[in-house]
Amino acid sequence: MAAMTSSTATGRPVAPGLDLAIGFSLPARSARGRVVRLGPLLGEILSAHDYPAPIARILSEALTLTALLGAMLKEAGGQLTLQAQTESGIVDLLVCDYKGGELRGYVRFDRERLAEAPGRRDLKALFGKGYLAITFDQAGSGERYQGIVPLEGASLAAAAESYFSQSEQIPSLVRLAVDDGGRVAGGILVQHLPEGEEGRDRIHTRLDHPEWDHVAALGQTVKAAELTDPALLLDTLLWRLFHEEEEVRVMEPIALLKGCRCDLDHIRGVIGRFAPEERAEMVEADGLIRVACEFCSRDFPLALSDFAD
Ligand SMILES: [Zn+2]
Repeated sequence: MAAMTSSTATGRPVAPGLDLAIGFSLPARSARGRVVRLGPLLGEILSAHDYPAPIARILSEALTLTALLGAMLKEAGGQLTLQAQTESGIVDLLVCDYKGGELRGYVRFDRERLAEAPGRRDLKALFGKGYLAITFDQAGSGERYQGIVPLEGASLAAAAESYFSQSEQIPSLVRLAVDDGGRVAGGILVQHLPEGEEGRDRIHTRLDHPEWDHVAALGQTVKAAELTDPALLLDTLLWRLFHEEEEVRVMEPIALLKGCRCDLDHIRGVIGRFAPEERAEMVEADGLIRVACEFCSRDFPLALSDFAD
């Protein structure tokens, strides 16, 4: 039977509910993972847009994946960016990012083509030929790592798995789910790190991993309904999946919220670096320069008189 050890210093139970990420590890199996459930923050992010259901759904999955990956950043100030770009898909661009527990995201897509598209709304139907880029920016060390893989497979979860196997050679299991009403999304990521978190020189790489096969088999039993059930606590879910393991270490939960870093002063600074004549060309008919934040669907109007020169 598993010993569930929690790093919560106070010994309080892991908080219930939504908008949380929890890290865990199975030390005896050299596996680690993250589990995430999103609720109110999905509504907050989606309410800034008027996305048809299939677009809201793929963005909800992408935000869940972003939270899973972001929760792996070692440094609090680090940033994780997920970007899916296509050559001629219905979705042209999908961007999400994570910084310090804050998530944001948006989708640029062709509304008319989506309306005309037949019932198929899988990854290929929405994206066509596309690429998935994942960028880890570690704050303190300034370390930046970006991997890009073709956006292939039946789902975003499958594309993420192939990202880890192709780009990082880490065997990974990814499951993402959104409930029928689109109000709750959940996901789990489990990875095999036989050389430990930091990685040692791989003198020999074993191609068969019986430990990992076992962990992946357990992880695969997770159901979409479990990932999105707000009444099922995340640590209870981990217990269900891995209770036969020797030890499951559970980390302090990370609270997730909607956040955007758009800011009038910053935007004014960016526009202020253009030459006055270039700024004059940006002015619209009503005499204002408008800079939009696509994450928040918010306009920042600036007057030429806002600039000193
Ligand atoms: Zn914004």
